[in-house]
Amino acid sequence: MRAVVTEGVGAVAVLERPEPDAPGPGQVLVAPEAIGICGSDYHYLSGELSKEAGGHTFPRVQGHEVAGRISAVGPGCSPELEVQQPVALFPLSSCGRCYPCSVGRPNTCDNFVLIGIHVDGGLQERLVMPAEHVYPIRAAHPAIAAMVEPVSIAVRAVNRAAIAPGEHVVVLGAGPIGQCVSLVARERGAEVLVVDLQEKRLRLSRELGADTLVWTSAEEVVSHARRWAGGGGPPVAVDATGAPAAVRAMVDMAASAGRAIQVGMSIDEVSIRIGSLTEKELDLLGVCCCGGGDFAEAVAVVERNGAALGRLVSHEFPLDQAPEALRFAMSNPNDVMKVVIRGG
Ligand SMILES: [Zn+2]
Ligand SMILES: [Zn+2]
Repeated sequence: MRAVVTEGVGAVAVLERPEPDAPGPGQVLVAPEAIGICGSDYHYLSGELSKEAGGHTFPRVQGHEVAGRISAVGPGCSPELEVQQPVALFPLSSCGRCYPCSVGRPNTCDNFVLIGIHVDGGLQERLVMPAEHVYPIRAAHPAIAAMVEPVSIAVRAVNRAAIAPGEHVVVLGAGPIGQCVSLVARERGAEVLVVDLQEKRLRLSRELGADTLVWTSAEEVVSHARRWAGGGGPPVAVDATGAPAAVRAMVDMAASAGRAIQVGMSIDEVSIRIGSLTEKELDLLGVCCCGGGDFAEAVAVVERNGAALGRLVSHEFPLDQAPEALRFAMSNPNDVMKVVIRGG
């Protein structure tokens, strides 16, 4: 079978690899049909993924945003997992023994294993997964089903923020994750303002029901966002950029007793005014992937919002052109929203 193998920094090729073994007890053989590519894939390929975020070991088959069909089912799996069933893959495994696992937050497990990062992922014709990571889904198109993973991060963010109907939520960054946070927050009944450097991306946010603001300077964005939210500023601000200026703006704009949610990944550092945390008694909450419960919610979000989420898929490439797709996405960050590789 074919597999897209990242052989070293910047080196990726389509290679022949042996078929996986038949699925054992509690395992499912899945044929990926659509694999979303995201920022962490670019960081992995360019050797820039921090050790904390999983680092990199080569060779590796990347791809953690995976939708596909079941090809074979091992003994002892749930009856809803049938051959030909369309599924989305929950990419994260945890140890069950460490502190975060013991308090019900396995998505921050000290020993966490993500497909496509720590073990081989979806950019191949078939892979074996534990049955509990295989979620049946009804979607019009595999590329839409592959949006479950980015949506699951948005669900996690909205759950961490405990967003309530009618609340004003500012989302910094209108890439795929920011757009998904906006969509899930809107579904919860929130008013959403999306901020981005690119008017082109904000047009899509508006079409999906959010108010928008072009990033000019941190100062202007903070004062506009506080006016937009009314009262003492937005009770919830979410950063989906990882850019230091946006993170600082998030902390500065959030209302007293509000929540600031960090979703964007970065190895950069940022300085914040310490008083923002004490005087405002701000809850500064990080988000890392998601748990199984969030993932099941994300499946339902995708089933309800297929048409909107399909609009985030800007480019599709066949598996054989995955290396070109990765290079294209990395060199044209302003033109791509979500790049999806078609499997098989
Ligand atoms: Zn991702
Ligand atoms: Zn653990």
